[in-house]
Amino acid sequence: MSQQPPRSSQPGSDQPRPVIQPQPGIMEIALYQAGAATLSGRSDVLKLSSNENPFGASDKTREAVARAAHSMHRYPPTDHLRLRTAIAEAHGLDPDRIICGVGSDEIIHFLCQAYAGPGTEVLFTEHGFLMYRISALAAGATPIAAPERERTTDIDALIAAATDKTRLIFVANPNNPTGTMVTEDELARLAHAVPQALLVIDGAYAEYVSPDFDGGAGLVERLPNVVMTRTFSKIYGLGGLRVGWAYAAREIIDVLNRIRGPFNLSSLALEGAEAAVRDHAHLDHSRSENARLRDWLAAALAERGVPSDPSFANFILARFEDAATAAACDAMLRGEGIIVRLVGGYGLPDCLRITIGDEASCRRVAHVIGQFMAGRAAVAT
Ligand SMILES: *Cc1c(COP(=O)(O)O)cnc(C)c1O
Repeated sequence: MSQQPPRSSQPGSDQPRPVIQPQPGIMEIALYQAGAATLSGRSDVLKLSSNENPFGASDKTREAVARAAHSMHRYPPTDHLRLRTAIAEAHGLDPDRIICGVGSDEIIHFLCQAYAGPGTEVLFTEHGFLMYRISALAAGATPIAAPERERTTDIDALIAAATDKTRLIFVANPNNPTGTMVTEDELARLAHAVPQALLVIDGAYAEYVSPDFDGGAGLVERLPNVVMTRTFSKIYGLGGLRVGWAYAAREIIDVLNRIRGPFNLSSLALEGAEAAVRDHAHLDHSRSENARLRDWLAAALAERGVPSDPSFANFILARFEDAATAAACDAMLRGEGIIVRLVGGYGLPDCLRITIGDEASCRRVAHVIGQFMAGRAAVAT
């Protein structure tokens, strides 16, 4: 019996390369960089880089997920009826016009897969959420970024950038990473001006705006080409559970349901999200604490020479003199065990996005940035 030498598995060796190529656009996708979670050699890391709720999920949500663990050998329901009904009750919507996804990321993906493709364009703003570009490219469509005005969505620039190839326009309102927002009238004007496209209003931070802000649901009721997406990842504190949803015309929901995997949401996710949307106390507490601490942190940083735009979300975008200063401040924060988000990838290299944590966290981050700015002032004089 002749012995074969073991095949080399070193990359770049004589291994055969796959001949089959991916669809056009796929290799242009830059891998999404999530907010960092750890710093080597530290156990007391304060993570303010992913806009997570500092209070976590509500007790009722945790209990519901624990209960659901007893039946996780069963397949989950495919129609999500109980969750859709709970969402509809909480927001005063029609449950038949709701679709649930594995985070709103999956819904963004469904929209691009269903409505965009080679030869079409997907429009968003200069500092828009990175998933819009990724999902557009994954569908083979051409992503187009329109300029913003002073880090705020510019409706006229979006209208000017729209063409007869535009199929989808994504506007996060409030936007991430800027925290700024535009009015419902402005969004209606955009939807009217570009009737050949669907306007997707991403309401990931809608609950933070005010108790009565509808995130764009009213526009969905009035205009046939508006879709609203929402998530359980932010104010509900369920980023790890992966649940999002969208509200749209029945015809659009029907289209999206055809490409949705029948078991896309696990039974744990369904039970947890239903308990979360029924728990108004946790929602109200998270919203009011966020508003109080966001105002405090913005004022504290402004006093130390670090301005930010008025934010309607659960983070602020701290602005520095230039990119080098923002990077130096980030390095000092890391040295103190605090992780915030560098947003050069969003075209904002002179800024740091800081999630609003609990009170102790806000004080800690303000203290370190204050020390950083004082150190710079001392060098300058
Ligand atoms: C966080 C975020 C989402 C939510 O994504 P999920 O997939 O639901 O976790 C959507 N849009 C924007 C703008 C976000 O910042």
